[in-house]
Amino acid sequence: MAQWFAAKERAGSALVFFRMGDFYELFFEDAEAASEALGLALTQRGEHQGVPIPMCGVPHHACEAYLARLIRRGFRVAICEQTETPEHAKARKASTIRREVVRVVTPGTATEEALLDAARPAWLLALAEGGAAWLDVSTGAFHTAAGEDPAALIARLRPAEILAADGRDDATPAIIPKDPARRVADAFGVATLDGFGQFSPPEIAACAMALDYVRAMGNGQLPRLSPPLAEGGRGRMLLDAATRRSLEILESPQDGPTLLAALDRTLTGPGARELAARLAAPLDDLAAIRARHDHVALLLTERDRCDAIRAALKGAPDMARALARLSLDRFAPRDLGALRDGLARAAALAEAARGSILPAPAPLPDLAAELARALAEELPARLEDGGVVGAGYDGQLDALRRLRDDARGAIAAMQMDLAQAWGVAALKIRHHQQLGFLAEVPSAAGEKLLRAAPNGLTDEMRPIHRQSMANAHRFTCAALAALDRRLSEAGEEAQRREKAVVQHLRRLVLEEGEAVAEAARAMAELDVLAAAAELAREGQWCRPEMTERPDFTIIAGRHPVVEKALREARGPAFVPNGCDLSPGRRLCLLTGPNMAGKSTFLRQNALFAVMAQAGLFLPAEAARLGLVDRLFSRVGAADDLAGGRSTFMVEMSETAAILNLAGPRSLVVLDEVGRGTATWDGLAIATAVLEALHDRIRCRTLFATHFHELTVLAHRLPELRLARMEVREWRGEVVFRHSVGEGAAEKSWGIHVAKLAGVPTPVLRRSAEVLAALEARAAAGEDPLATELPLFAPPPRPPSAHPALEALRALDPDSLSPREAQEALYHLRGLADGTEGQ
Ligand code: ADP
Ligand code: MG
Repeated sequence: MAQWFAAKERAGSALVFFRMGDFYELFFEDAEAASEALGLALTQRGEHQGVPIPMCGVPHHACEAYLARLIRRGFRVAICEQTETPEHAKARKASTIRREVVRVVTPGTATEEALLDAARPAWLLALAEGGAAWLDVSTGAFHTAAGEDPAALIARLRPAEILAADGRDDATPAIIPKDPARRVADAFGVATLDGFGQFSPPEIAACAMALDYVRAMGNGQLPRLSPPLAEGGRGRMLLDAATRRSLEILESPQDGPTLLAALDRTLTGPGARELAARLAAPLDDLAAIRARHDHVALLLTERDRCDAIRAALKGAPDMARALARLSLDRFAPRDLGALRDGLARAAALAEAARGSILPAPAPLPDLAAELARALAEELPARLEDGGVVGAGYDGQLDALRRLRDDARGAIAAMQMDLAQAWGVAALKIRHHQQLGFLAEVPSAAGEKLLRAAPNGLTDEMRPIHRQSMANAHRFTCAALAALDRRLSEAGEEAQRREKAVVQHLRRLVLEEGEAVAEAARAMAELDVLAAAAELAREGQWCRPEMTERPDFTIIAGRHPVVEKALREARGPAFVPNGCDLSPGRRLCLLTGPNMAGKSTFLRQNALFAVMAQAGLFLPAEAARLGLVDRLFSRVGAADDLAGGRSTFMVEMSETAAILNLAGPRSLVVLDEVGRGTATWDGLAIATAVLEALHDRIRCRTLFATHFHELTVLAHRLPELRLARMEVREWRGEVVFRHSVGEGAAEKSWGIHVAKLAGVPTPVLRRSAEVLAALEARAAAGEDPLATELPLFAPPPRPPSAHPALEALRALDPDSLSPREAQEALYHLRGLADGTEGQ
């Protein structure tokens, strides 16, 4: 228990997995928490201060699955291992085996397959004031950025674990070590970081914080890491957290359909991770985007090449993650196998990509050949099982194995010799766990041997009794004991030698670590490109023409996720729609009833910008897109109930972000913004926002609204175009055509939609009455909402003040320029004189 308390002290808030032979055991409150989380039986073991100690345990060979469940439930787990054998402890004259915490498993530092999602990186994100660093222990990837908004970065990366010095509640508290630049340089064995690029001090602080944390969790050990890559946020489209939420790029509420899922045709885990990374951070760099499109176009025309590449990728192992486990010495034989097989795939891919512009992995023929020669065809699950290294690779290992096998043959020979010498034909040599090899004879023959040894035996062959059983006796003799010793020594030595050979192979791989990681990256890239070509071929997608100007012209575009859902439901086909936000017509104001397809149309165009700049083709007949530097997509509060963020305040603060951050190269998509408040407020805000987007920000804008009143803005804002979702009335019912036409919607069809939704007839009838009364009032030039509903008596009107006074009250002196102030004065004067109307 003293050992356990020491381990618990070191582990802090982590649960302690305390190794006891073949089990990891948990005690006290750890046992209670784990038994609850894992559904394990809670028992007791021993006492502490006279009270029984609660205990539960998991078998060590199955611990990964339990670990995975605990980590997913938000626990951290400290692994406390036996760090010596019972023999060592005995030699030290110690009463217990030494045990130590060898690592703490956290979501951001795990490398075990069971703890990782093959299609998702496991980022550990470190946030410092003004800089961030994120690394994936499971692949060795390492990036930094300066000055990024932490919320946007978190939304983009979806980190497994966050570190922060300043106590965010979603983060693990961590500290920035002293002399961070030195710490980082030391971790990479360099004198200065200059060779890796330009880093700001906060980026370096974040790097050092992350490295120190990984080292602390790994008991001082660092995995192989690629040098940090300063990204600086440049060259990427800016997508804030609200935009990602509304577009459902990688995630959607309640695990609904996502863009990623609809587009993913990759064949490997690393490829899926790369695709997700590209969609999460689309490029903002024409040359780089065009290069990706060129690659997809090539794979689309050269079908055979594309097929060869996909054939070589299918079933290819995850080399990056195997490499990480090797570097931490936490690997299984299949990780070596993954490198052997992965390098063979890399060679096949290099061949398939030869003579093209495609990024191809540089093969590592020497390492590949060495691994192929060294490793057995079929690999055991664990290193201790033996048989990792094949015959013919290491002479010494072969000799030891021969000795072991010879000794096995010698046992068979010995059985015959003893049967003859002892005169017991039924004698069998059997292996006993503790006692080694023993000669077993039936009871009667055994009794006889016990009474007297047969005559003429050498000392070597004289029976020595070891065990009596119900119907047999077991004996050994000096010769058998010697053979037994030889056999177990040969076995142990073969095992030791095999371990040394495996370590040698591990070193060979790690020496080429960066090259292997590079090959793995190239394979992931090829996977993404070939998958994009496959997708484009399936759906006849087009290559978007990318331009510098703020173009945006789509012909017959389809929403990839909704189209897929409709196809799977075998319902009506998706109706393609074009969109034109080119200069001169940059803003589109879309009206139409609920369920007509407004949100679908808006999102589809926003997603096109993401997909095109991620390097993919588009589900459209043709597309010309000017680079989008920042994409903003917002859903009116009432539409975002699933997110539980229904307050108007959220809607307005998100709108504020657009008005402050969007620029002339941005794309802004606003879906019914302003509906979270009273009609007039909402209309007023929507008007002002549209005016600001049109006059000041001058960005491309798609704006869906149910405020038909907004359509009059088209007279005043020359670049605003009106569009509407086409509907038809058929026998008093509304039929959605899902096509976008020009002009404003004629009516809102709300009652028809209510009918479709199953609202009871009396309520529908009453709604129609009220609507008719309101419309009549509007037709008579009155404000239909200014007074109570028509069936009640209108309240008396308040006496009105003088128009000049009212105009004076409406003035906001702080917002007036001197010139406007002067104009206002003239106006007031005119009102007072009665020469001017209100
Ligand atoms: P709104 O925002 O106008 O209320 P949505 O965009 O949410 O409408 O669309 C409602 C439904 O109509 C979608 O779930 C989809 O099934 C269908 N739909 C939308 N656009 C199309 C289209 N272009 N072709 C076919 N079906 C569509
Ligand atoms: Mg909608």
